[in-house]
Amino acid sequence: MPPSSSNPRNRGETHIRDRGDACPGALRLHRADDGGLARLRLPTGILTSRQVAVLADVADRLGDGHLGVTSRGNLDLRGLGEGCGLELAGLLREAGLLPSERHERIRNMVVSPLTGLDGLGLADVRLWARDLDALLCAGEWTTELSGRFLFAVDDGRGDVAALGADVTLLAEPDGRALVRIGGQDQGLAWRVAAADAPRAALAAAEAFLAAAREAGTGAWRVAELPAGRALEEAVTGHLERAGIAAGRTAPAALPVGAPPEPGVVAGRAVSVVAPLGRVTSDQFRALLPAVEVRVTPWRGFVVTGLADAAAAAARLAELAAAGFLARHGSPWLGVSACTGRPGCGKALADVRADARPLDHGGLPVHWSGCARRCGHPQGDWVDVLATEDGTYAVTVRRDNDVQNAQR
Ligand code: SF4
Repeated sequence: MPPSSSNPRNRGETHIRDRGDACPGALRLHRADDGGLARLRLPTGILTSRQVAVLADVADRLGDGHLGVTSRGNLDLRGLGEGCGLELAGLLREAGLLPSERHERIRNMVVSPLTGLDGLGLADVRLWARDLDALLCAGEWTTELSGRFLFAVDDGRGDVAALGADVTLLAEPDGRALVRIGGQDQGLAWRVAAADAPRAALAAAEAFLAAAREAGTGAWRVAELPAGRALEEAVTGHLERAGIAAGRTAPAALPVGAPPEPGVVAGRAVSVVAPLGRVTSDQFRALLPAVEVRVTPWRGFVVTGLADAAAAAARLAELAAAGFLARHGSPWLGVSACTGRPGCGKALADVRADARPLDHGGLPVHWSGCARRCGHPQGDWVDVLATEDGTYAVTVRRDNDVQNAQR
């Protein structure tokens, strides 16, 4: 299984790779030791009640009765039998979860999960996300994006803007939007009208592909492009050709917002987290009834449409009883783990059985069965890595660089 949030730093002129990415999708299943693995992209992060029910049934009928939530807010189905691909595709299509088969692996987007719910964002960016997804699915060239290229749509609170996306849309005051391509260190940002934001994100992605072709290094992500002004010039040119009035802006620190805490949200919704990013089909069904269920890139769910604060408090108690993390401050909130044994043949340990909270100044802790460290967090985090001798190496990583190591 490939890492879901790698942030490579290859600035050289050498060829990075010759092959396409091997990211699993809803149609291209990955063969794992525990059967087929399908990954379903949820570009807006939003599921209807019916879609939640369908996915729970699909997990029971075709998979191992569980659903995994990835660090990009996608859903994994595991333990899929040989030859179930057609049936799976049919069920997903019928539920409206597969709008374009050719684009299903490139619809990679993270969206502020509480946008429009709690009044803390500068805009309700659900429409941006829907429009950007529609533009991605309508384009022919967009199928050339890799399954790892990531868009972030942030309502101004700075939560998903910190997740290392290749193209980030950030709501700003006064009906404007910031379009950033690459990470903070690349400092490439333009200011556009909010109404142009989805088209501007698309233009930035097209500019990336043009710059990647020009570099000829096989880059999948913006951070893999060689240093230089080629990307900046490509973005400027693509924005102009799209007829988007865009002002190049000096690099500025983006806001850094926190993930949704478990609890009641604005009296009408609840936020919970899936322990180690995995739930049973019955736990998934327990999220219903709801107007919508939002899947978060912090492996959680936001249930919306509750009648009032009392109903929200009651639902939170039910979800806690069902096994979700529903309490602010739980030490398990910052703990994640890769698949490990027995599902992954590369794993040196059953990391999910071994995983537990570690006290490292509140940093997220990620347990990995091998050095690929699938699904590790962004930013500063504690790396707990299985070793050949049956122990774990514990390392604090800061922005993907090892700063401090200990055994
Ligand atoms: S052991 Fe874990 S980190 Fe290694 S490839 Fe498997 S899932 Fe990924």
